[in-house]
Amino acid sequence: MERKSVWFQELSGPEVVDWAKTQCDLAILPLGAIEQHGPHCPNGSDAFNAIGLAERIGQNSKAIILPCPMYGSHPYHHWGVHGTIPLTFETHIGLVTDIIRGAAVSGFNKFIILSAHGQVSSTIVAVHKLGIEGHFVLSMHWYDFLRDNKEIFSDYMWHADESETSLALYMYPQFVDMSKAAPGEATGLISSKWKIAPGAEAKPGQMYHFEGTFALPEKFDMRKSNGCVGDPTKATKEKGEKAVTKTVKMVCELIDEIMTAYPVGVKPVTA
Ligand SMILES: [Zn+2]
Repeated sequence: MERKSVWFQELSGPEVVDWAKTQCDLAILPLGAIEQHGPHCPNGSDAFNAIGLAERIGQNSKAIILPCPMYGSHPYHHWGVHGTIPLTFETHIGLVTDIIRGAAVSGFNKFIILSAHGQVSSTIVAVHKLGIEGHFVLSMHWYDFLRDNKEIFSDYMWHADESETSLALYMYPQFVDMSKAAPGEATGLISSKWKIAPGAEAKPGQMYHFEGTFALPEKFDMRKSNGCVGDPTKATKEKGEKAVTKTVKMVCELIDEIMTAYPVGVKPVTA
């Protein structure tokens, strides 16, 4: 059975209901943000990365892709800076839970939240609120798929850096100006040995990077720095393609496992 689009918003009501009932009742919610990404990348980078990854996952699986809300929630060090429009955590938790509840009405029983922006502070709360209501929801950041990212990138994932800019060069080069790309500065308030870098494998004694107010807001403020953390000059389209291909392949493998264990119509979680 063919479908004319992977996107929920491009299909009719009867089409999505029929797809969820007969083909695949797993939906993916891509989550991005509106946030400055240095002078070389667009403010919608995280949303574009989430949309680009989710669309490719939809094309390589039977999952339906829910429309991506362009706004996201932000850690404390992103607030009050130019180019960034943060939602409060409460707003974002409400947004995500409302979207999943709404999609479930059309017959979707399994959900993957695919984030391309650091907002686990709200997505984890949303997942557990939804679990209490009987929804099966997995939440991931695409950097979860880069545990051995030294195969692709020379550094872990930071911000407007080698990894994010590589994805941009691969998926939306028309919005990128590499002549403006320059390395950012280190941003830690305590030694980096105590913190798991996004995408890094954890070592004993390390805190997850959202478990502290580790970063200095001025490193994300374009009035005081170039707004980059990491080195975007090392970005290439080829690295972006490799990271996207790897992420899409692993998410599709996860979808396969879920749909084999819990075929269409089966709810893995009940309230
Ligand atoms: Zn980003």
